[in-house]
Amino acid sequence: MSQKGKVYLVGAGPGDPKLITVKGMECLQKADVVVYDRLANPALLEYAPPQAERIYCGKLPDHHTMKQEAINQLLAEKALEGHTVVRLKGGDPSVFGRVGEEAEHLVDCGIEYEIVPGVTAGIAAPAYAGIPVTHRDYGSSFAVVTGHLREEKPELAVEKWRALAQGIDTVAFYMGIGNLPMIRAQLIAHGKDRHTPVAVIAWGTLPDQATVTGTLADIEQRLAENPHITNPAIILVGDVVRLREKIKWFESTQVKA
Ligand code: SAH
Repeated sequence: MSQKGKVYLVGAGPGDPKLITVKGMECLQKADVVVYDRLANPALLEYAPPQAERIYCGKLPDHHTMKQEAINQLLAEKALEGHTVVRLKGGDPSVFGRVGEEAEHLVDCGIEYEIVPGVTAGIAAPAYAGIPVTHRDYGSSFAVVTGHLREEKPELAVEKWRALAQGIDTVAFYMGIGNLPMIRAQLIAHGKDRHTPVAVIAWGTLPDQATVTGTLADIEQRLAENPHITNPAIILVGDVVRLREKIKWFESTQVKA
């Protein structure tokens, strides 16, 4: 029987292919198999050897996605055949990337693996929009939250929203654009000032990056006025958003194609 291979669970970074880590790039260069998803920039696939097998497991035009169990199995299967496998995920694999489930499965199968962190969109997209997620004068705490909160007991949900509204200075919502009306309503209902600044940053770090800003009170309308702001997008809520006016650098310097 062939020797077992190894799986690298690699963060591809938020969009700009240059934002992958050196270690992530080295993994790609030695890959026999690359299993990649929708948000990993396809330009990165060029760094894998020409003969490497490339397997897409993101959403297809018919919205069908490879099931997580099938992905877990695929990674294990390829490694058991003796291959070096790179599982390439957008951003950081540990942030809403289900890396825990994949790693657990590999442990269960007795397969060696490494996690290679990446630059997450909730920090990178704001940085490219001129918004540092913390700042001594504006925010000393930062949370990442999914906009797709799973069904929870109502009392837990209340506690969570109260904490986000009252206890944390800057909040990045991932996968939240469809739920923006709910997110802003919950934050206001749980005590966040309606005038708190909000930025919605789409296609962060890519040439198409676009940002709209407003406040909790008017962000929904501002978004409706800017229909080009689509997924993937980060909703960033907090006073640090004010800095954008002064230090936005990327959108004002890039040359649009
Ligand atoms: N593991 C990823 C997040 C996966 S969840 C990470 O660490 O970044 C997918 C969500 O990430 C999207 O719905 C969006 O909210 C966010 N996202 C990913 N890429 C983005 C980008 N280039 N610009 C803005 N948001 C992005």
